[in-house]
Formats: sequence, structure tokens, C-alpha cells
Amino acid sequence: MKIKYRRLFALTINFLFLLLCLDGCGRPGSGQTQQPVPHKLTFFAMDTAMTVTAYDPGDEPGKDPSSAKDPHTDDTLALARDYTAKLENKLSVNIESSDIYAVNRSNGEEVAIDDETASLIERALELCEKTGGALDITVYPLTRAWGFTTGVYRVPGEDEIAGLLKLTGYNRVRLSQDDPGKPYSISVDKDMMLDLGAVAKGYAAEAIADILAGNGINSALISLGGNIKAIGHKPDGSDWNVAVLGPDSSSYAGILKVSDLSVVTSGGYERYFEENGRHYCHIIDPFTGYPADNGILSVTVTARDSLLCDALSTALFVMGRDKAVEFWQNDPEFDFVIITEGNEILVSEGIYDAFSPDPAYRVTCVKK
Ligand code: AMP
Ligand code: MG
Repeated sequence: MKIKYRRLFALTINFLFLLLCLDGCGRPGSGQTQQPVPHKLTFFAMDTAMTVTAYDPGDEPGKDPSSAKDPHTDDTLALARDYTAKLENKLSVNIESSDIYAVNRSNGEEVAIDDETASLIERALELCEKTGGALDITVYPLTRAWGFTTGVYRVPGEDEIAGLLKLTGYNRVRLSQDDPGKPYSISVDKDMMLDLGAVAKGYAAEAIADILAGNGINSALISLGGNIKAIGHKPDGSDWNVAVLGPDSSSYAGILKVSDLSVVTSGGYERYFEENGRHYCHIIDPFTGYPADNGILSVTVTARDSLLCDALSTALFVMGRDKAVEFWQNDPEFDFVIITEGNEILVSEGIYDAFSPDPAYRVTCVKK
């Protein structure tokens, strides 16, 4: 078996590198106007290298670069890091004390879960419904069978896949709360399992954004691997530059200029293996049980809400080009950049002008 496996870690480092090149965080003396110096904190959580870059409240170009940076901003970044670690401890499929770990070993019994986990599951289930099941937080038995949880990849037989499909279905997750103020409980059928991997980073980006806003920060870039959230503008009032990676993940297909917006990418290059000349990626089509394979190489979704973007980027990847475009046309509360085989890029009209593609691609503006 020929296996190519590029660790997500390498990808996120790549992505971070591109962002660091692009986000325009000025250094004293590097430009004509002296730019304020940002605070940056990099940490590892949710299998991803994460960086939060933030400017002190009131930073603006021309401010004396030798003036002391506000230590309160560093404290805020540390709070964001610690909160992300707490979230991971609740949501991880691998951490033994997590809510999800308990649900996945509940043997069909009801399990009491934390309120925050419950509210994320509730929102995720709504998004599963909204996407007609293209997003499905119960595909974990399939993800495991294909080896995406361990790196020991294999192509399961048809019978095995048919059997595992019987253990999936987001509409079989029962979440309840007897009375307001009482703990939530959840139950899934025996051997069913949950995985919030398609939405957890989007949720974390929103939680970090709330912490920054609550501490007065109004100019920041939250970069959680392929999940970016831009808060406000750069201190000089210009937009943030966010790279959309090319399908080889080492170059970029274009740059998006954004402010107050989330930019979330799901890519078939993030985690995959090849066998007998076929490419199998980590995003599972819940209807077939096989990795999505429809000519889409990556989907980037933009909207204010990172959780929505995270859910939709995964779901549109499953839907394939035509259904993804139709979905957007019926509910244009977001925008997209879809890269397909053959170096084609589809960009929805809301962000077409903000996107500067690499000239190697053929770009089409998709209208309503
Ligand atoms: P993302 O990188 O946000 O697109 O999420 C991909 C991750 O979500 C995978 O690594 C799996 O853990 C999980 N996943 C795979 N396929 C699906 C799906 N169709 N719906 C929900 N989660 C999925
Ligand atoms: Mg996602």
C-alpha cells in the first residue's frame, strides 16, 4: 500500500507561515509609517498550531514603537489559550475526561454533559439538519474504520461500510434537559459515536473572539490552522490579508482581504492517503461512508460566525460543486471560494472583489 500522509501539524505551520507573511503586522522601521507592534501568542491545541495576534486597544500608526506594550493584552492572550485548552478537554474524542469520550463509551446509556458541550452539540445538530446531513457529527465510526484517527489507513470492505453506516445518523442523537438549570443529558444508540472535529475550531475561534472583545481588543487575527477570524481592521485601518491555500498546501491560490470576518477552509490535502492511485481524504460523505470524492479540492467559507463557516466548509466539501452552489443560492448568508480539479476556482459574488487569485487559476464569479 502506498501511503502519503502529510500531518496536519505541518499544514498548519505552513498556513501560519503564509499568514505571517501576509497579515501585514508591521515592524518598527519596516514601512514608511511606523506600525504598532502586535502581541502574539502561539500554542498547540486540538491537534493544531494556533496563533492569536492582537494589538493593544488604541494602537494606531505613528505611535512611538518604543512605547511599552500593554501587559494586559498578553494576559488576555493567555486567557484565550487557557480557554481553548479547557474546550479541548470537554470536546476531544481522545481525552478520557471529556464529555465526548464519555458519550462514545456510553453503551446506549444516557450521559450528563457540560452546558457548553451541550450548546455546541445543539448548534451542530441544527447545522447537520440545515445541510441536509452533509455535515454529520456521528460519522466517527467511519472515520475510525478508514484509519483517519490513528494514521493506520485502510480501505474498508463494502460490507463493513454498510454495517458502519447503520451506526450513523445525526437525527438519532438525543439531547435533553429536564428543567432549565439542570444538567443536559445526551444519549446515542449503542456503538454510535460523536466527533465535533468539523466544528470545534470554529466554536473555539468565536470563544477566543469573545474573550478579546471582553478585554477591549478590537484589532486581532485569530488563526487556528485553517480557521481564521479577523477582528476589526489592522491598526492603520486597512484590511487583513488571508491566504487561501492551493491544493498542494504549500502555495496559495489567492489572497482574501477581510475585516470582521471568519475565513475557514476544509481541504482534501489536510489529511489523506493514497491507495492504488486513488486519493482518500479525511472528510467522509455520510451518505456513502466513503471519503468525499467529487472533484472539489478545497472549500473556503466566509461569514461573521466562525462556527457556521466551519460547519459549512465541511458540508460543502461533501456536497460537491453543483449542490454547494445551489445551497448557497438558496441561503446566501455566507460566501465561498471553491477550488476544483483542473485549477478552477469558483468565488461567490459577495467576496469576488476582495479575492486576488494566483494567475495559475481560472476564476469564475458565481452569482445568485
Ligand atoms: P474540517 O477540517 O472542519 O472539514 O473537519 C473534518 C473533520 O471532521 C474530520 O477530520 C473528521 O474528524 C470530521 N468529519 C469528517 N467528515 C465529516 C462529516 N461529513 N461531517 C462531520 N464531521 C466530519
Ligand atoms: Mg469544518
